[in-house]
Amino acid sequence: MPDPGTPENPLRVAIIGAGPSGFYAAEQILRDPKTEAQVDLFDRLPTPYGLVRGGVAPDHPKIKSVTRVYERTASKEGFRFFGNVEVGRDLGIEDFERHYHAILYTFGAEADRELGIPGEDLPGSFAATAFVGWYNAHPDYADRDFGLDKVKRAVVIGNGNVAMDVSRMLALDDAELRRTDIADHSIEVLDASGIEEIVVLGRRGPAQAAFTNPEIREIGELEEADVIVDPADVELDPDSRAWIESDAASKTARVNVEIVEQYSKRTPEGKPKQVRLRFLASPVEIRGGKRVESIVIGRNELVVEDGSPRARDTGEREELKCELVLRSVGYTGVPIPGVPFDEKRGTILNQEGRVLEGPGGPHRTGHYTAGWIKRGPSGVIGTNKKDAQETVDHLLADVAEGRLLDPSDPGPAAVENLLAERKANFVSFSGWRKIDHAEVTRGRPHERPRVKFVKVEEMLEVASQPHPEEIPDGS
Ligand code: NAP
Repeated sequence: MPDPGTPENPLRVAIIGAGPSGFYAAEQILRDPKTEAQVDLFDRLPTPYGLVRGGVAPDHPKIKSVTRVYERTASKEGFRFFGNVEVGRDLGIEDFERHYHAILYTFGAEADRELGIPGEDLPGSFAATAFVGWYNAHPDYADRDFGLDKVKRAVVIGNGNVAMDVSRMLALDDAELRRTDIADHSIEVLDASGIEEIVVLGRRGPAQAAFTNPEIREIGELEEADVIVDPADVELDPDSRAWIESDAASKTARVNVEIVEQYSKRTPEGKPKQVRLRFLASPVEIRGGKRVESIVIGRNELVVEDGSPRARDTGEREELKCELVLRSVGYTGVPIPGVPFDEKRGTILNQEGRVLEGPGGPHRTGHYTAGWIKRGPSGVIGTNKKDAQETVDHLLADVAEGRLLDPSDPGPAAVENLLAERKANFVSFSGWRKIDHAEVTRGRPHERPRVKFVKVEEMLEVASQPHPEEIPDGS
């Protein structure tokens, strides 16, 4: 048998997870001039694009336009999409090992990090990941009820971009929401909510906030909500002041501080809602009976430990009435059976994308990872391009060295046959194109980019029908 990567024996790669890193890695492998490759991209959902579809906020359509780049990858020779295929349910790692020279895990970090405080699991306290999934029509979260009709004050915990997204979604008005691709089921619920105030808790100061400039700026540009910041909250401690004025501070941090300082000087215009940004404030306990009734907030001070400013509890407490808590303190990866996992970091155990058998190595031949499940949940969509390239460079170097899996059945038809045998109803990229077309068509009369399907069964039904543009006239 000729070496893998030649026209007679193309390199066969399975990529698991069809989000940005999966698509970037597929593109980078297929683009390599020295390697003849076939890439099969798997996702447990019938739809591709991961967090671009299920995470990016509905009012950020420009960010979503990156899918055009992924569509170009999908149209390349050697690319196949297998949607609605779940590892563990439809295929096991040993199946991939039997059919591919390399396996690349790009399934992201889909669980929420926990706060570890009493009352965290009371009804009315939710992970922001669930709320984001719900308004983005992710099938896993379609049936969630956040009890928004009972909410006057919502508390959002965390100071990252997800906290900004969920705060903004709670504050947008009906007309703004109706222009977007937000899940249909969310529009009326959000519109009927009685929310008057959204309180955002940052455990450190504005100089340490994780949000980026456009996201904090948008909070100050809401039609229906005043942004409120207590001037005392943005007074920087001497260490933060010295840092923000030094060359060590990033431009993002400097501008974040400027924006928040400007907010603290604003006079509220009397808009129907308020977004209140609080700093040096940590959740200590969530209280309630049948559901959330209040949150106990601890006042922090900043102390520099190992060169980093950390939040230290001053012991000062305050109880704030609220009916909803959204915990937005970051994501974490979920292990899949048979793949070495670093529990502490919430990532697959790896070195620069090569999966390791254990801490310190060796490399598990033929297994690679990229994206959030490789490095943790950080960066913007584009960060995954560079991240995937590092992994793909190693993969291609290993191809040149012949360090690959030795599949017993590498023919491209074998995987399709196996899926058919297991009665897995997979969706190809042309199946996704039908879903896409149907969603866009549903949106057109309402001047919306699309109206998403939320149920997997609906998606499978549409994907199994002929594409409307392929049906001859009169039939
Ligand atoms: P993130 O950026 O890591 O922010 C997590 C926030 O939670 C931080 O403010 C962190 O504070 C806080 N936190 C952590 N543990 C806490 C605790 N026990 N108590 C109180 N606060 C706590 O995570 P994310 O917002 O989930 O975003 C994930 C990634 O997606 C980020 O890279 C983000 O930029 C990206 N993203 C981008 C966009 C966009 O470009 N528009 C939108 C959404 C997400 P400390 O800093 O003190 O740890």
